Amino acid sequence: MQCVIPEETGFCYGVRLAVAAAREHQPCFLYGEIVNNPVIMGDLTAGGCKILHSPDELPEKCENPVVIRAHGVPKAVTDALSARGARLIDKTCPHVKKIHRIMEETDGDFIIIGKERHPEVRGIFGRGQGRKLIVGNLGEARALLPEKAAAGFGSRGAVLVAQTTFERETFGEIAAFAQKILPRLRVFETICDATALRRRKVAELAAKADFCVIVGGPESSNTRKLYETAKARAKSALISRAEELDTDALKNAETVLIAGGTSTPAESVLETAEALRAYCERTGQEFTLTD
Ligand code: SF4
Repeated sequence: MQCVIPEETGFCYGVRLAVAAAREHQPCFLYGEIVNNPVIMGDLTAGGCKILHSPDELPEKCENPVVIRAHGVPKAVTDALSARGARLIDKTCPHVKKIHRIMEETDGDFIIIGKERHPEVRGIFGRGQGRKLIVGNLGEARALLPEKAAAGFGSRGAVLVAQTTFERETFGEIAAFAQKILPRLRVFETICDATALRRRKVAELAAKADFCVIVGGPESSNTRKLYETAKARAKSALISRAEELDTDALKNAETVLIAGGTSTPAESVLETAEALRAYCERTGQEFTLTD
C-alpha cells in the first residue's frame, strides 16, 4: 500500500497561533471552542481550560486570561469581557483582524459574503457602524440587494467583504453583481488561501487514490468540505482520530490519501498513517509513505 500525505498538513497559521496561546496559558478560559477539533479540545479541557459561551459566564475577579479564537468575536463581546476585568489574549487571525479593521474604519454600509451562523461572520457583523447585509450566495444577492438599494442601502457608500474561507469564484460573481447595483461599492477581497489550497490538493490527489481518509472534527466545515471533495473522486472516510478508522474498508486499496483540515493537528494525520502501517504489517502488505 502506498500512503500519500499532502504537504499542506497540520494547523493553518491562524489556528496554530490560537492553539499555542491556549496551551501556553492553560488553565485559561477559551471564548468558544478554540478549534473545531475534539482531540485538541479534549487535551485543553483536560488541562483545565474552560469554555465560555457568553461574557456573563466569566467569574468575578478571575485571574486566568481569556483566549479569543482565530475566528474573532463581535466588539460587544470583547467590551463586555473587559468590563468584567478579563485579561484578554486576542488570537483573532490576522486575516480576520484585517476585515475587522475595514469594518471599523469605514463610514457607510456593508455587504458581508459568508455563512450567517458562522462564528467568524458573527464577529465581522459585530464590527462597524453602518447597515449590514449578509449574503451567502448569488441567489440571495439577487433577491435582496436591489430591494435594499432602492430603500437607500449604500447611498452613503458601501463596502463588501467576505468570510476568509469563502469560495473565490462565487465571491467574484456576487461582487460583480453587487457592483452593478451599487456602482460606488468598494470591494475588499478578504479570502485566505489556506483552505482553498488544501481543497485543490485533495482534489488532485484523491483523483489518483483508491481510498481517502480525511481526518478532522465533524464540526469543522473546512474538514467536511475536504471530505466532500475526496468523496466525489474516490471511496472515502471521515474520522476524528486514528482509532476510528475501519480497516475493512481498505481491502484492495493500493493508494490511500490521508489529509486533514486546517483545524486538524499534523499528529492526528501521522497517527492515522501509523494505523495504516500496522494494518499492512498485520495483513502482510508492503507499506510506503509519501509526503
Ligand atoms: S484559514 Fe486562513 S483566515 Fe482562517 S484561521 Fe486559518 S490562516 Fe486564518
